[in-house]
Amino acid sequence: MRKYVTSVGLEVHAVLLTVSKIFCKCRSKTGSEPNEDICPICMGYPGTLPNINKKVFDLAIRVGLICNCQINRCIHFDRKNYFYPDTSKSYQITQSEMPVAKNGYFKLPSNGKIIKIERIHLEEDSAKMFHDEHDVTLIDFNRSGRPLIELVTSPDLNSFKEASEFASEISSVLEFGGISEAKMNEGTIRFDVNVSMSESDDVFGQRVEIKNLNSLESLEISIRKEEERQRKIIESGGKVKRETRRYNESEQVTELLRDKEENCDYRYFCEPDIPSICFTGMEIEAIKNQIPLLASERFIIYTEKYKLPTISAKTILSNKCISDFFDEVIKFYGNYKSIANFLLNEFLRRFKECSYKIPFSAFFFAKLVEMIDKGVVSCLNAKEILRIMFESGGDPLEIAKKFGFILVEDSKIIKEIVENILEENDKMVKDYKSGKTNVLGCIMKEAMSKLRNAQPQDIKKQIENKLNKK
Ligand code: ADP
Ligand code: MG
Ligand code: ZN
Repeated sequence: MRKYVTSVGLEVHAVLLTVSKIFCKCRSKTGSEPNEDICPICMGYPGTLPNINKKVFDLAIRVGLICNCQINRCIHFDRKNYFYPDTSKSYQITQSEMPVAKNGYFKLPSNGKIIKIERIHLEEDSAKMFHDEHDVTLIDFNRSGRPLIELVTSPDLNSFKEASEFASEISSVLEFGGISEAKMNEGTIRFDVNVSMSESDDVFGQRVEIKNLNSLESLEISIRKEEERQRKIIESGGKVKRETRRYNESEQVTELLRDKEENCDYRYFCEPDIPSICFTGMEIEAIKNQIPLLASERFIIYTEKYKLPTISAKTILSNKCISDFFDEVIKFYGNYKSIANFLLNEFLRRFKECSYKIPFSAFFFAKLVEMIDKGVVSCLNAKEILRIMFESGGDPLEIAKKFGFILVEDSKIIKEIVENILEENDKMVKDYKSGKTNVLGCIMKEAMSKLRNAQPQDIKKQIENKLNKK
């Protein structure tokens, strides 16, 4: 098989984490009832005027700074003119000539490769169309006017793996930077991929754009399928055509959306209803100082300062909510490893079941882990306490008392019960004395069932004491 260089450039669209939309006061929210968060401005009524939400500059500049970009001191908006039912004004307010940021780069953690960032700009999201089974199209305007950033990379990614890593890393940056929820499954981050193939490093092939991918899986598959398709065209002597395609998820193939040759002219011009905006160096500096710790920075703290194993640190950092919770918990109890252990096992499972909600405080979680470490409750019962906390919240100590989970520390009680068991199981004792020490397991099991609130090691000690004396 002949060798080709694959080049991929990504266009990332992320919904910014603001309370209201970019040009009106409507809520910017995922999951409202259809057309619940709308007004004449975001529905594009003639005669309305956009009123810019200043928060979007802060968030967009943050991304620019994180991606090592040049921040434009003065920016303006432009109109991109086209007709489509989800764009009822017949134009989208976006940025063409003077975007928020340009000429940056982002390093891929796995191989240190530099991916150039061409530009980062602000724009408004379109409404969303639904095609129902009767061939009727419905439009939901909740999404119309939600603030977006578009981040455009150079075609520096050379495989579906690198593209997928970039997509996943940039999502994490946006999430930890407090810039976007960046949830692919909810559409708050979406990708367009541009793929081309050539026979040498120094020329690019013709690019094909695949629109609107919303999972890492579809991103990877569509790039691989596109590579296959382009390879076939080239090897059969044909020429790859510049076109826009979409990914058909159920069939796992890309299909033609439109030919670029018939590409329309968007007739960009400066948006007359929004004045240019300028930022001072001090304002940009202040934004820089507000950027929260990103996952990569927290990773260093977790592994070097808290000495957590890499895999634990990575798992905690796979979700900002878990990482924030961990950071809270350790303020109340300083045994990082115990907290990480309990968090990553029992907690994580319940957390997923509870659709990523934590119905109790970091303080109570810290208290529960401390109770295990101090031997107040067994690890087994702590899991049960956590289950109750996830169901109804509450103080773990109170729960332990209420349900009788406090460990028996009184060795007298343990001794008494062990003695009873040994008396009732004469044969086992004899077996043990004649060298069959594996009966110890059976005796342990029996004792554990009667002493649910005692530490196994205390029980074992008592049994061995007794057996070796008799
Ligand atoms: P458009 O509006 O046409 O999509 P953009 O400038 O927004 O243009 O995006 C162009 C994208 O295409 C960028 O991500 C860029 O890296 C990518 N790209 C440009 N040329 C090629 C190429 N030959 N192969 C792969 N990707 C390319
Ligand atoms: Mg594009
Ligand atoms: Zn509105």
